[in-house]
Amino acid sequence: SLLSSRSLTLKSAAARHASPLPRPSLAARPSPRFAAALRMAHGKCRAEYIWIGGRGGCGDDYRSKTRVLDKRPTSVSELPLWNYDGSSTGQAPGGDSEIYLQPAFMCADPMRGGDNILVLCEMIDPKNNPIPTSTRSVAKKIFDQAPEEEPWYGIEQEYTLFQDGVPMGWPKSTARPFDIPSPLMQFGYPGPQGPYYCAVGHDVSFGRLICEEHLELCLEAGLNVGGINGEVMPGQWEFQVGPCVGIEAGDHLHMARFLLQRVCEENGVIVSFDPKPIPGNWNGAGCHTNFSTKKMRADGGLKVILDACEKLGKNHEKHIRLYGEGNERRLTGTCETNSIDNFKYGVADRGASIRIPRFTDRDGKGYMEDRRPASNIDPYVVTALIFDTCCLKGDT
Ligand code: ADP
Ligand code: MN
Ligand code: MN
Ligand code: MN
Ligand code: MN
Repeated sequence: SLLSSRSLTLKSAAARHASPLPRPSLAARPSPRFAAALRMAHGKCRAEYIWIGGRGGCGDDYRSKTRVLDKRPTSVSELPLWNYDGSSTGQAPGGDSEIYLQPAFMCADPMRGGDNILVLCEMIDPKNNPIPTSTRSVAKKIFDQAPEEEPWYGIEQEYTLFQDGVPMGWPKSTARPFDIPSPLMQFGYPGPQGPYYCAVGHDVSFGRLICEEHLELCLEAGLNVGGINGEVMPGQWEFQVGPCVGIEAGDHLHMARFLLQRVCEENGVIVSFDPKPIPGNWNGAGCHTNFSTKKMRADGGLKVILDACEKLGKNHEKHIRLYGEGNERRLTGTCETNSIDNFKYGVADRGASIRIPRFTDRDGKGYMEDRRPASNIDPYVVTALIFDTCCLKGDT
């Protein structure tokens, strides 16, 4: 038995080296109850301070570090100001590298469980101004101009899961799919779009465990995530945040993206927020932004919605500039999008820039869906811009 246990050890060591990404699965993380027991032993709270690095609020540059506190704070105002080295994130020169972290939003930390928390921060320079990548306070100023409008947002975050350089479900190849003119010409590539959207089955659904685990973590954190679904391109998924009021939409979306990055990290998968990860006849990834105000939701609201659509049409170019980098690769006028160069709105029209849901048309009140934002938007910027154009003077 000594011999067999030794060979077992050798075998498992070999197996470990054979695997390119020997990561523990999330199932191996301490349960919240175990984490709580640990907490009782030391009595401390671990606060994970999260901020956005130099690439901006596009979803792929979250940074974070841990601060140990004596106890869990009851609100963000109790959290200490902190700082980080901005020269290491492309946000400050080495000679004057300190950027302050001002806690802005907190929630439970579902990875660590117990009394531990996640803290989303604004990034503040030594003169006490937010740095350019810190867009929250600008957005909040815009929302604070007309809180009586009670703006609601529902954001549909689409994303693509990559493993070993290709989207999940795509064959591993020495040539990246980007380099292949028509993926359909290659044996083993997924067949044309059609069977993947909201699909069930091993041959049509790729990466569900990540999507499910992410939803569970968001709910444990207390984030307002309303649903998940498989998307039109294989390896692509969506989660929805909202409806959230004003600035909360950006807070919850950034925090949910951070958790998606963490869940993918633990499982050896890379999440891409690129608006068009695979060129050609494959759907891109967007962040449809559903929007309503108190007046739009009340009787006669359809007229307010149509007015807002007209205003959005007049400001199309201004919005497109802030609706995600590389969005011109996605808004081609095919694959359920309208062309980036023109604006139209319509009832139940998935080829329009703005879709008015059929129920909203029927009821004469409700909400609208701006289908233009790309998956890599900064949600603070987009939600505040829509508010400014539709409800304020539109001069931001
Ligand atoms: P789709 O049919 O476009 O895929 P989803 O169900 O994915 O729609 O997303 C719809 C989003 O709209 C959800 O996030 C939901 O919270 C949001 N929503 C619903 N009602 C409103 C409203 N009155 N105002 C703003 N957002 C809303
Ligand atoms: Mn140090
Ligand atoms: Mn959707
Ligand atoms: Mn979608
Ligand atoms: Mn949609």
